[in-house]
Amino acid sequence: MRFTHESLCQRVVFASEAAAGAVAAEIRHLGAQRLMVVAAPAESDLAASVTVGLPVVRWHDEVVMHVPVEVAQRARDVAASARVDAVVCVGGGSTTGLAKALAMSGSPVAGLPIVAVPTTYAGSEATNVWGLTEPGPDGGTKRTGVDGKVLPCSIVYDASLMLTLPPELTVASGFNALAHGVDAMWGPRADPINRLHATEGVRVLAAALPRIVEPSSGPLGRKQVLYWHEQTLYGAYLAAVAFASAGSGMHHKICHVLGGMFNLPHAQTHAVVLPHVLAFNAPNAPEATDRLARAFGSSTALVGLRDLRTRVEAPTALRDYGMPEDGIATAVAPVLAAIPANNPTTVNENNITALLHAAWAGEELR
Ligand code: NAD
Repeated sequence: MRFTHESLCQRVVFASEAAAGAVAAEIRHLGAQRLMVVAAPAESDLAASVTVGLPVVRWHDEVVMHVPVEVAQRARDVAASARVDAVVCVGGGSTTGLAKALAMSGSPVAGLPIVAVPTTYAGSEATNVWGLTEPGPDGGTKRTGVDGKVLPCSIVYDASLMLTLPPELTVASGFNALAHGVDAMWGPRADPINRLHATEGVRVLAAALPRIVEPSSGPLGRKQVLYWHEQTLYGAYLAAVAFASAGSGMHHKICHVLGGMFNLPHAQTHAVVLPHVLAFNAPNAPEATDRLARAFGSSTALVGLRDLRTRVEAPTALRDYGMPEDGIATAVAPVLAAIPANNPTTVNENNITALLHAAWAGEELR
């Protein structure tokens, strides 16, 4: 064996129905006294409930998906002028993304410690990856990068914050989490350790997601729903750790190009594209797909993912989310340029055009 694995250092607190106490403990641990809370308007009630009693000097709710640079700049100005010494972000990946934009190198408040309280399964809280979108002639260009300063110092996971998630978002976000696990199998720094995290993450997610949303589960009691959200959070965390360690593979590169270019909803884009990438790479990634098949408890990885998608009624076509058909031709070149050289299946203009078309139209996967 020859590989170099880097583990990221952060505190991870699971505190179902106890986020407020856990966040207060993390703030005490930091010794922070001037907090900025970042939460989108839809997340403000959740944020108020977990930050009660804390020394908050600024509340910032201008959160926009894919973090446009001008939105990041306004938040940085607010944080700098208020001389905040830590940020608590309560919300989905867009909210965590804005907190990361505050803390990243080059910001006037670079290195600001982040306590992240996730309310979706996006997993950004467990990665040192930032994303910013700049306006451009083809819609927008999403840039991502790695910076140790953006890794939250603490994560507080509270499954009760997931109870307000609409089922469609639970599914799409759960698939975003699955995508971290699947793409980690062939990410540029994939190794036995991050594959282990990824496999266990996929196993837990595949078992838990249907229990939350499938009608056949019957009406679950609050305790059971909390239990399955807890499991999903745990699986999403493991998958995000795997992704952060293995790096962005083909799947994430495609989703970043499409998301930035056509302003597509992040989680739904992942849910649609993932099975197409798995089908594309599976013939040339036998070890990875064996692991995934076992994680899904299925005859093959693709059958497992396809069955899960059907069970939870996950999104199937990019055209349903506003991607124009002629956008396929525009996207091919940047997608080809972004896909890592170690991708199991060699990419070219024809096979990427076919993949994007299949994902756009929602073609059946075989
Ligand atoms: P999101 O954060 O945009 O949230 C989607 C919607 O759901 C928003 O309107 C939000 O306010 C609402 N919402 C969030 N939690 C809720 C809850 N518990 N109840 C009710 N409504 C709730 O979407 P997302 O999919 O979580 O995150 C997408 C963003 O995260 C993208 O910009 C993506 O690039 C980024 N992301 C980054 C990383 C990384 O490692 N840097 C990883 C994953 C995602």
